[in-house]
Amino acid sequence: MDYLIRLVKALIPEQYHPIVGEIYRICRSFLYIGNRYICPCCGWRFRTLLPYGNKKRPNVGCPRCNSAERHRLLWLYLKNKTNFFSDNLKVLHFAPEYIFQKTLRFMSNLDYISADLNSPMAMVKMDITNILYEDNSFDVILCSHVLEHVVDDRKAMRELFRVLKPGGWGILQVPILRDKTFEDPSIVSPEDRERIFGQKDHVRIYGRDYKDRLEEAGFTVKVDGYVRELGDDKIKKHGLSEDQDIYFCAKQRP
Ligand SMILES: [Zn+2]
Repeated sequence: MDYLIRLVKALIPEQYHPIVGEIYRICRSFLYIGNRYICPCCGWRFRTLLPYGNKKRPNVGCPRCNSAERHRLLWLYLKNKTNFFSDNLKVLHFAPEYIFQKTLRFMSNLDYISADLNSPMAMVKMDITNILYEDNSFDVILCSHVLEHVVDDRKAMRELFRVLKPGGWGILQVPILRDKTFEDPSIVSPEDRERIFGQKDHVRIYGRDYKDRLEEAGFTVKVDGYVRELGDDKIKKHGLSEDQDIYFCAKQRP
């Protein structure tokens, strides 16, 4: 199937990829309709989810919107624990996920900008270690699974803190896979990075001390185990992972 998708992508001009992708996902969704899972991001219900990620973990990906556990958790958190869907907010979203950008850019309460160094979907081309906005520009920053790709992540965190308004907040998610963060700048080849860090474009494996690094940059960090408040039934129904915490990072007012 991956080969077929690559072939179709090669044959169709790039500007048509979003619409073709959308049609493909709608058609695919009808094959999996059922009542076992509800995706909070797109609202569709399925009897099973799809294999997802480099290592194709089974029963993870939403057939309709491609969300994985972390996207569904972030969506539920934004909806149930923040002012994201009610207040007028200026939002900076790094490395925008398709399902989020598609909805967020049209939400009338949000002044929304997405940014990325490489993604053609991003509205602004920008390096996270050199953010092209003035200090105190944004009410909210979303940045999920980006910093594990960034060599100078401390600089990126300082930049995120700088452009956040006092009283603003960000959700800065990374995969946490150990107690203490492991990194080694001498590991640079894609093969070695894949073998040691788990993915060819990852430059470290974060541990639970990730919070300390965010605090060094200035954030007040709440590691929120919100997912476990939902209970087993909702965790199963929404296809969530009970060990994923939300890193809610606030910039205090002076
Ligand atoms: Zn979905």
